[in-house]
Amino acid sequence: MALSDYRFCVVGAGITGLVYAERIASQLNQPVLLVDKREKLGGNSSATIDEETGIEVHDYGSHIFHTANETVWNYISQFAAFNSYRHHVLIHTCGHVYFMPINLKTIQEVSGKAFTPDEAREWIESSTNGSGEPRNLEEKAISLIGPDLYRLFIKGYTAKQWGRPPSELPADIITRLPVRMTYDTEYFNARHQGIPADGYDAMFRKMAGTPGIRLLLKTSFSEIAAQLSRDCTIIYTGMIDEFFGYCFGALEWRSLRFERETVPVRDYQGTTVMNYGDETVPYTRIHEFKHYHPEWEKPFNAGKTIIFREYPMAWKPGLEAFYPVNDERNNSLLRKYRELANRHPGILFCGRLGAYKYWDMDKAVAMSLEGFDALARRRYER
Ligand SMILES: Cc1cc2nc3c(=O)[nH]c(=O)nc-3n(C[C@H](O)[C@H](O)[C@H](O)COP(=O)(O)OP(=O)(O)OC[C@H]3O[C@@H](n4cnc5c(N)ncnc54)[C@H](O)[C@@H]3O)c2cc1C
Repeated sequence: MALSDYRFCVVGAGITGLVYAERIASQLNQPVLLVDKREKLGGNSSATIDEETGIEVHDYGSHIFHTANETVWNYISQFAAFNSYRHHVLIHTCGHVYFMPINLKTIQEVSGKAFTPDEAREWIESSTNGSGEPRNLEEKAISLIGPDLYRLFIKGYTAKQWGRPPSELPADIITRLPVRMTYDTEYFNARHQGIPADGYDAMFRKMAGTPGIRLLLKTSFSEIAAQLSRDCTIIYTGMIDEFFGYCFGALEWRSLRFERETVPVRDYQGTTVMNYGDETVPYTRIHEFKHYHPEWEKPFNAGKTIIFREYPMAWKPGLEAFYPVNDERNNSLLRKYRELANRHPGILFCGRLGAYKYWDMDKAVAMSLEGFDALARRRYER
């Protein structure tokens, strides 16, 4: 089939593009082109099994599938069984290791007291200063959790994450800071959680293997755009500002750099993700991937492990975009790009890059399922 014969083209084979392509092929029975400039499926959720150790490495940092949405869970479970991994995050700060988010156990360790939930609440409230409207993130955080918890858990980590001290960051970056008045140390509340039992790549390959999908990897949209027919519907999951040649300027992101190391020990840190709260430590987190698959006995018990040290950095065009900076300036720029996009009804901008939003994978799946339903309705109404 010539490229000009396709009525649907999905740009980007991340989880958003994969859901759209799978739905179009399986529900509308329409052939669909799925193009991605990378050589792998999965976008920023992609993972690679290391040849030497057999460890599944998440290419862009730890990715845990978690959802409370039954529709999303039923949908994704068609393409993978999930292992029983439940996520915990720890933070190494001022010589101690604590569970995150802050919970009764953390408060007990910091205060030295075995508080009941009400006593812990009172302890926090007595340390927060109720004086006036917070002028910056530091004041806001202290008003929510008090100076001790702020210094241990927020100050250094946030400064490294944003490249600026919290006293120079806007207060509205945070609306609340999660504090659990229970001994529950799990990171996510969602009922469904896990890692695809055969790895992410197997799951993404199953989605892309749906009959009717033609996959073009290592292909940028600009390389094929001119060959598509005028009535081809384009589902575009790349950056909206890049699509329009940054005509109003670039939307701002935070980027990350990962430093990979294969360490000759069976277990480096005893857990998947360790945050580092001290500013003297230049990275924010260490990921140790073998702990995502304790059931993969051979790589798990081998005498080597793979870690990533994560360093936040400023973004500029050409670098990987990780976290959108949804402040006033960028949101008003986004509105301009959206208005421009409205003048191109044959192109749907979606996914985290098209929407300029931080979305977990389950949210990206939910938005894509809804977006597909709207697309299908529009087709039948025509
Ligand atoms: C550090 C970090 C950790 C995260 N951890 C988790 C987690 O634990 N659990 C969770 O649920 N979510 C997590 N997420 C969120 C998750 O990464 C996103 O939900 C997911 O990547 C969204 O998928 P997407 O398809 O919308 O975008 P992407 O994954 O970015 O995919 C977009 C694809 O489009 C392609 N593309 C772009 N432009 C073009 C073009 N012009 N031509 C061809 N191809 C193009 C790109 O190459 C890419 O493959 C995390 C995010 C970050 C930043």
